[in-house]
Amino acid sequence: MGEDYYSILGVSRNASNDEIKKAYRKLAKKYHPDRNQGDKEAEEKFKLINEAYEVLKDDEKRKIYDLYGKKGLNGQYGASSGFSGFDDIADIFDSFFNNFNRRREENLNLVVEIPLTFKEAIFGVVKQHKYRYKKPCSTCSGTGSANGKEDKCSYCNGRGQVYGNLGGIRVSQTCPYCQGEGFIVKKPCSTCSGEKYIRVDDEVEIDVPAGIDEDHKLRVQGRGHVGKSGRRGDLYITFRIEEDEHFVRHGDDIYLEMPVFFTQAILGDTIKIPSLRGEVELKLKEGTRDKQQYIFKGEGVENIRGFGKGDFIVQIKLIYPKELTSEQRELLIKLQESFGIEGKPHENLLDKIKNKLKEWFEK
Ligand SMILES: [Zn+2]
Ligand SMILES: [Zn+2]
Repeated sequence: MGEDYYSILGVSRNASNDEIKKAYRKLAKKYHPDRNQGDKEAEEKFKLINEAYEVLKDDEKRKIYDLYGKKGLNGQYGASSGFSGFDDIADIFDSFFNNFNRRREENLNLVVEIPLTFKEAIFGVVKQHKYRYKKPCSTCSGTGSANGKEDKCSYCNGRGQVYGNLGGIRVSQTCPYCQGEGFIVKKPCSTCSGEKYIRVDDEVEIDVPAGIDEDHKLRVQGRGHVGKSGRRGDLYITFRIEEDEHFVRHGDDIYLEMPVFFTQAILGDTIKIPSLRGEVELKLKEGTRDKQQYIFKGEGVENIRGFGKGDFIVQIKLIYPKELTSEQRELLIKLQESFGIEGKPHENLLDKIKNKLKEWFEK
């Protein structure tokens, strides 16, 4: 019973791939040799866990195992080494030892995103923003280890690289246990749970300039994460801007689709329309077409770099009556008649094409 791969991982026989993976990760962390040094039983258990996972994570192997047991696998695949899940091991350590605080490049910059309304982005606003930054844990002096010091990784012997032999050629790879750091945490610090840093609450006041857009970034110097040296990085602020129901912003230009009744468009009219800063008068020319644009220079968004203001572009959307009363119908018929041939452009085209076809086939 103890040999059964499913019971080794503590999952049922119909466990999903996901459940198997989860169970494996949990057990691999628990029995990992670096956390159980000198413990023979843990070492044995670790081997078994890997062997079981090696088979159960592979649909093909799992099927054979389910049908024929270990014997089936040995026959077809040869003895399983039980330890080739290199990627999975690296994965585990990725999530286990946080990437923050790598010796080589310590990125202390912090990026936060602040939501703005459409109006705030156009006219500017002062915002208070609460956020958290990372600071080395003082309990463990940023080592993440309960005894305050980092232990040499036993897998790579502190080199950060592991070596192997590939057809007589020596190959090296970043150590998957310590991710090339050469050090690992055996017993995690209880203050930071081995993460090496703690999170500190902070708040900034940001004077968001008029005309800010989603591709802009503001930098607040010295308000990012704190590094081991005590140096503090910068805070970068990006923005997520809400859309407006009517106005559409494109850079510094603002677009508005304006519904206009077909008779207004034909006859021309002067109408009041909303703009960013209140109302403007729009003089519809006689014979205004659908999708025709009227441009109000400098009525758009103020450019953030002081290059003046964008434009306000109004695009006409022609609206036709949904239904006609009998009176309206009569009036329209009269109108149609009074246009004569101009009111029947299709006839003109039909005649032309008919004549052309005649020429084609007369020959
Ligand atoms: Zn290592
Ligand atoms: Zn700590």
